[in-house]
Amino acid sequence: MDLLIKNATIFTMDEKEEMIKGSLLIDRTKIKAIFPHALGDEPNIQAREIMDGSSLIILPGMTNAHYHSYSNLLKGTESSLPLELWSLYTVAYGHSLQDEDIALAVQLGVIEQIRSGVTCCIDHFPHIARAEAALKSYEQTGIRVGFAPMMHDVPDHHFLRVQLPNKITERIEAVRPKSVDWMREFYTTLLKYWNGKNNKIRILLGPNAPQRCSKEMLSLCKDLSISEKMLVHTHLLESKVQKYWGDRSFSKGLVGKLNEAGLLNERLSTAHSVWLEEQELAALSEKGVTFVHNPASNMMLGSGRAAVGKWLKYGANVALGTDSSNCGISHNMFETMRLAVMLHRYGNEEEVWIKPIDTLKMATIGGAKLLGEADCRGKIKVGYEADLVLINKAHTPYCVETDLATQLVLYESGHSIEALMVAGEWLMKDKKLITIDEQKVITSVQERSSEFLKRCPPAVREVEELLPYFREMYESISKEAIL
Ligand SMILES: [Zn+2]
Repeated sequence: MDLLIKNATIFTMDEKEEMIKGSLLIDRTKIKAIFPHALGDEPNIQAREIMDGSSLIILPGMTNAHYHSYSNLLKGTESSLPLELWSLYTVAYGHSLQDEDIALAVQLGVIEQIRSGVTCCIDHFPHIARAEAALKSYEQTGIRVGFAPMMHDVPDHHFLRVQLPNKITERIEAVRPKSVDWMREFYTTLLKYWNGKNNKIRILLGPNAPQRCSKEMLSLCKDLSISEKMLVHTHLLESKVQKYWGDRSFSKGLVGKLNEAGLLNERLSTAHSVWLEEQELAALSEKGVTFVHNPASNMMLGSGRAAVGKWLKYGANVALGTDSSNCGISHNMFETMRLAVMLHRYGNEEEVWIKPIDTLKMATIGGAKLLGEADCRGKIKVGYEADLVLINKAHTPYCVETDLATQLVLYESGHSIEALMVAGEWLMKDKKLITIDEQKVITSVQERSSEFLKRCPPAVREVEELLPYFREMYESISKEAIL
């Protein structure tokens, strides 16, 4: 056997949210056995490595279920605008990133995620020409990734009906979107070389959002999701503006558009989903769609508050995401869980409040279920993958042992995490990252950053030309009552 952790507190996250005091045995990539026992009464088992767990809480690894790695180099760029205006900036900055920047952005994000207990992330990835650079970087880190390159062939100014001067329209439209055939070829190649690599990398279909995809592009999604058994991950109804134009552009709105494309099923996960009507959220829940809640960016970009309490009431699977670095958050799942709890109490009836344990389930089981891996990840159970977070309870949040879920969600920052493993492989031990040279990554980002920032101004100047027209559209709609 490879590893025995003795005398630990094991937070299994299984059906009964059982907390076991005992020992955990890991054989290669999987959990081999769990032995409940009194302190000091551990089983006599030989293992290559034996670890004293008497000061440890062991938690299943968490999934950051909606995230954009490219944004890790954009901290401190524009972050004081609502979604539709902010998007112009993040796209402009993002296009200035080169392969080396993307590789480093991936590693920066993995550093933050490992240090906050994340063993798997879903990277909704817009700069698809740089997919290979990102995937190579992920492979080095050893983290699990659901990599969802974005598909989009409808520009925002069309859907949002922004009236632009001809000169600006011509400039924007001179850059043609990738065709459906091109995307089919792209995905086929990616699947061939990367899907299932090391049992850690999965390729997902990543339609940017239903309004940003033509019927034909969504049809490609459906074809590939069936023929290649692929999952589909998309943004959905993030803002009021999207709801407004979605209802005016498609007879049954943006949810109707996904339905007509044949994408509403258990393979689909939708990030944000803030502006769903009740019958839509009931229908999506019924069809097994996973909702991914992103409390930080919903607040920072003024998008609104998702009806997470109702999602749970309808029995939907819910996962949690941190979204982009440049809308106000490091990729810290403890912070995300805490924000989710707080956001759904502020100004809401008590009946829809969510509890700390609810968010812990979203971060563990919910994320695993989104990826169709609920039978092998998200819990500490015999036969499950050894994706584990080791938390040192000799820290202030745990001095008095009362309700561990509440203590983890409301008081943990990530500082108490000692170690983390994915499939039995240490990615962090004694607080030191194993697969990433953290200092080298930081130094490399510092060295490259001035060149990167020098490349941004022309694209940002173009955004400043666009901004008044988008603002005019945004302001006229934000005054309308639509629900
Ligand atoms: Zn997003």
